[in-house]
Amino acid sequence: MSSADPQVETVIDLDAIAHNVRILAEHAGDAAVMVVVKADGYNHGAVRVARAALAAGAAELGVTTIAEALRLRAAGIDAPILSWLNTSDADYAAAIAADIEIGVSSVAHLCAVARAARASGIVATVTLKVDTGLNRNGISDTEYPRVLALLRDLVDERVVRLRAIFSHLACADEPQHPANDRQRATFLEAIATAKEYGLQPELVHLANSAATLTRPDLAFDMVRPGISVYGLSPVPGISDFGLRPAMTFRARVALVKQVAAGEGVSYGHEWIAPRATTVALIPAGYADGVFRPLGGRLAVRIGDTLYPGVGRVCMDQLVVDLGENPAEVREGDTAVLFGPGEPHPQRWADLLGTIHYEIVCSPRGRVVRRYVGDVAQHEGGL
Ligand SMILES: *Cc1c(COP(=O)(O)O)cnc(C)c1O
Repeated sequence: MSSADPQVETVIDLDAIAHNVRILAEHAGDAAVMVVVKADGYNHGAVRVARAALAAGAAELGVTTIAEALRLRAAGIDAPILSWLNTSDADYAAAIAADIEIGVSSVAHLCAVARAARASGIVATVTLKVDTGLNRNGISDTEYPRVLALLRDLVDERVVRLRAIFSHLACADEPQHPANDRQRATFLEAIATAKEYGLQPELVHLANSAATLTRPDLAFDMVRPGISVYGLSPVPGISDFGLRPAMTFRARVALVKQVAAGEGVSYGHEWIAPRATTVALIPAGYADGVFRPLGGRLAVRIGDTLYPGVGRVCMDQLVVDLGENPAEVREGDTAVLFGPGEPHPQRWADLLGTIHYEIVCSPRGRVVRRYVGDVAQHEGGL
């Protein structure tokens, strides 16, 4: 790294994103691929990930909020975008004007979309999100007939167009869980019920990453992978499916110093040097996304060696023990907190009792994001 490099950064490998999209497309068979870039592309940068994924063969993009969808449009991305979680007072007029497909989960949502469509004089593109057993977002059983009746009228009046019907799985990361088959059956019933109202969606979709990779019978017309696009296995421990993690979280060593035997290191002196040793200061702490409970438990890779973190993780920094420092680690060297090799985000997840989704969403604040890969070269700029 040069002196101009940031102290702490995430490096996003867009070639890995492209590689992962191609793997997912193979598993999807005839189904199209909608790449989920919610939460700023799982903290990898939604715009750049979206461009790389579309270039690699993804057909559509999925996000949570209208604001997320509008940011993609503002960046010049004209692929179909679905936004599926908005309150009834969301800016549906802006979504309609930007040709964003709107996922609705209630009569109230649909009414709000219809109001905005009437006011703007543009036909809104609507997708029904049906709850098939997750019991979270999605139209409930009890409200479904009322949504369909209202939608029928709105379609007849040419206020809205029905694009798709979709649903989300509760237990896809356990491929053989009986809930998957139950949700599939309920989903098919919901599609059949819509047809009774004369409502024929252009396509239907159900599968997240786990289902895309393990349940080809749930692919329908399109799959909606998220985490696997970023190279993390949705069923860790079973297979990595040849996916390549796209994010490396790293920092530059800020200081190397000697600590005498018996000296305490970092707040509270929770670690006492058992011998005279050398320590390295890593300028990344919990404000940057290094979870504080990792203190004394994580390892950091410098060169080819994993060094144990010692003492508490602080807001801005943590300390690793280099021992006698045979590799001659120096200020400015790159320390990998997690990435495609070791330590893997799954390692942090195991240490923290969470999932790797939360790990890659964590780097923030001072962390600077940088893109690498041939795809990044071709695109140029930021
Ligand atoms: C987040 C999300 C996905 C992607 O899930 P992964 O497990 O990351 O593949 C797909 N569909 C919906 C509705 C989601 O909210």
